Amino acid sequence: MIEKTQWVYKFGGKHTQGNAEMRDLLGGKGANLAEMARLGLPIPPGFTITTDMCRIYYENDKQLPESLEEQVQNALDTMAQETGCVFGDDDNPLIVSVRSGSRASMPGMMDTVLNLGLNDINVHSLAKKSLDKRFAFDTYRRFIQMYSNVVLNVHSDCFEKILEEHREANGYYEDSDFTADNWHEIITLYKKIIREKTDHDFPQNPKDQLWRAIHAVFASWQNDRAIIYRRLNDVPNEWGTAVNVQSMVFGNMGNTSMTGVCFTRNPSTGEKHFYGEYLVNAQGEDVVAGIRTPHNISKAGREKQGDKRPSMEENMPDVYAELKSLMHRLETHYKDMQDIEFTVQKGTLYLLQTRSGKRTALAALNIAKDMYDENLISKNEALMRIAPNALKQLLHPRLHPDAKKELLAKALPASPGAVSGQIVLNAEDVVRLAADGQKAILVRVETSPEDIQGMNAAEGILTGRGGMTSHAAVVARGMGRTCVVGCSDMQIDFENMCVNFGNIQLKQGDYITLDGDNGLVLKGNLPTLPPDLSENFDWLMREVDKIRTVKVRTNAETPADTLIAKKFGAEGIGLCRTEHMFFSQERIIQMRQMILADNKEERCKALNALQPMQQQDFVEIFNIMEDLPVTIRLLDPPLHEFLPQNEAEIEALATISGHPIKHIKQRIEALHEFNPMLGHRGCRLAITFPEIYEMQVRAIFLAAIEVHRRTQKNITPEIMIPLVGLSEELSNLRKLVDTTAQSIFKQENIHLDYYVGTMIELPRAALCADELAQYADFLSFGTNDLTQTTFGISRDDAGSFLEYYQKNNIIKFDPFMTMDINGVGKLIEIACQKAKSVRPDIKLGICGEHGGDAASIEFCIKTGLDYVSCSPFRIPTAKLSATQTRIKHNM
Ligand code: PEP
Ligand code: MG
Repeated sequence: MIEKTQWVYKFGGKHTQGNAEMRDLLGGKGANLAEMARLGLPIPPGFTITTDMCRIYYENDKQLPESLEEQVQNALDTMAQETGCVFGDDDNPLIVSVRSGSRASMPGMMDTVLNLGLNDINVHSLAKKSLDKRFAFDTYRRFIQMYSNVVLNVHSDCFEKILEEHREANGYYEDSDFTADNWHEIITLYKKIIREKTDHDFPQNPKDQLWRAIHAVFASWQNDRAIIYRRLNDVPNEWGTAVNVQSMVFGNMGNTSMTGVCFTRNPSTGEKHFYGEYLVNAQGEDVVAGIRTPHNISKAGREKQGDKRPSMEENMPDVYAELKSLMHRLETHYKDMQDIEFTVQKGTLYLLQTRSGKRTALAALNIAKDMYDENLISKNEALMRIAPNALKQLLHPRLHPDAKKELLAKALPASPGAVSGQIVLNAEDVVRLAADGQKAILVRVETSPEDIQGMNAAEGILTGRGGMTSHAAVVARGMGRTCVVGCSDMQIDFENMCVNFGNIQLKQGDYITLDGDNGLVLKGNLPTLPPDLSENFDWLMREVDKIRTVKVRTNAETPADTLIAKKFGAEGIGLCRTEHMFFSQERIIQMRQMILADNKEERCKALNALQPMQQQDFVEIFNIMEDLPVTIRLLDPPLHEFLPQNEAEIEALATISGHPIKHIKQRIEALHEFNPMLGHRGCRLAITFPEIYEMQVRAIFLAAIEVHRRTQKNITPEIMIPLVGLSEELSNLRKLVDTTAQSIFKQENIHLDYYVGTMIELPRAALCADELAQYADFLSFGTNDLTQTTFGISRDDAGSFLEYYQKNNIIKFDPFMTMDINGVGKLIEIACQKAKSVRPDIKLGICGEHGGDAASIEFCIKTGLDYVSCSPFRIPTAKLSATQTRIKHNM
């Protein structure tokens, strides 16, 4: 059966077999090359080996079936017909590129080999045919360098060192300054290194070269950086990569040749103008790898950046006009912003790739809205174009206008936002510092895919080289990290671990601030302002509010957070964690007195002192939320969290409370628990010390009455009992709430509506939700604890092994970030169904972190929850995600 399957799909001219619909099988690059060929665009011919073959490769211990050879040879024969060049021929060689291409674009994560098929003999034929010996030998040395790195695992530093020595010895600035003789000499040295490092001569047989390169590209699907990238971007491991073999066109054939990357709209801001970069007499890798800083493609772009070097528009106006018209055609065809790679060989334009361009959230929003206005896409399509989890990028801070700016350098604004952090020169240190809660800016000459974890952990990224399409720029934009690239005024001194900006020297650990909107590098840790949301953002929020039905609430306990949440359109508070209100200086002392109390009377005394403060908190929150629902969760964490942590605090408490130090230490000892998360916390505290919840309930109702009397708004508190596992716990505490409420209503001669509900944080609570529902007006899924208790994995300690689990595919994602639908989700489904069976009108919500995660929200909506609740800055994400679920599933 395997023999009959088509593994190879040709593209180019009349031989094209694929199309854009086939991206699962051909990968994005392969499918789009086929589509462009069908559109009659100038595409060098080639073929794609399918992603199915990648799966077979891994299933068969990295072996490829023999039948593939026949299909590849057939495709090479077709390329010979199209190009007039023959692969492996000594006199008229066909030179090819071998490139990866998966279903989702994974920029720079997998391997590529360019200029393949050259050897010591046919390089002379290439020189003769092109009448350019320099070009032929430059191409051969590029091939040797890249092939040796990718296929033979010889580190590129070995080659760079040789290049650097020659550059210095000859006083050259750019690689295009090298002569044919220089390259010849360098090739001899390269080959010597390869012999030393691999014990073999550089392979001369083009077929051998090709098969080994195909193997290497398939193998690169499982390299570390590809695995990490997939994890960070939710790309399934099973997808595999295709391999694209394509006839080379050469951007390094002199001054009428060039290579570049362009976008049909600005990928950083979304503005509607062509945007791109190019390099004369170069190959694609030179642009992407950031080895030379490219020129701007358009005159307007060049002038905006204050770049003196000629744009492509000025340099080759005819080719520029042709490129512009092809870009327009591609955008109209795909109805999306395109990221296009092109090469000009001696004045003739070729397209090598088109794909939907990666963009910042700001660009995604602006492009979606503009394309809707231009009647290119429908409103629903526009709403589906914006990734909900990326929306938080829009909420990036900006530099405070009063910030004292000391400019260190100006470079390219690759990804927006204003961030400060310590200068850190390598990715591992960034990861370490971030784990320690410290802010770092990753500063590199250029980033490479190995830096990806450091880039993710950094506040921002600054590179010395590279343009807007360099690895750093593309990856940072995708991640939503602030990024400034191509900072040529910066010199990194790795020996002394410092960075020089002109004559200002900063050490690793010193603070800098990046302004990613304007490409500024500034000295120090500067103040920022919250983001200023645009008209398009308001449009988006208005439209999503028209479509979605699930309510979006917020998790907030301070007036500041509540205000931000209200501004983002929170439709209530889904979780107000009251314990956070006890940590201020004055309150913690009363709290500690309460915990130290030897008897109820003393405990009540301390609680009575806390009550007015707690009441004031609730007054402020009710005031802000007005008649929107507010769910207040009664005290949850174990008491020891409030106790003094060191000798000085113990002494201070002894002085204030009059308790002897020894007594305090005994009490700390007595409260110590081996598993505090599973210990005396949540409702268990109130079952044993009911006076704690009594005080909180009094404070809630007195506050509600006060605000109601002043504003005449309907204040309807929702009181939530945490960590319930037994219906008896809930029935007891519900009685406590009801009795306390009634006594206050009587005393104040008023009645307010209120609800009492519980969190579902334990598997038992989920499985017995029907029993709990008898005493609950609402259930709110506390999926942080529910994940912890379902997996038996501590939410505070999981980091030590979850990372390893993810890397090794034991688990696909962090279940504390994205809901585990199969386990935790199943419990939620059971709970919903059981609760509704006894109480059809019970209100259901979620207030764990998953309430702000797009994929988890989709599940919540499908399961029939009435609301999701998330931190204020995730409200736009939650609203958009709810809307997209409705559009996608027509629900
Ligand atoms: C939860 O457990 O999901 C929850 C929201 O409560 P907390 O995070 O405060 O434990
Ligand atoms: Mg909890």
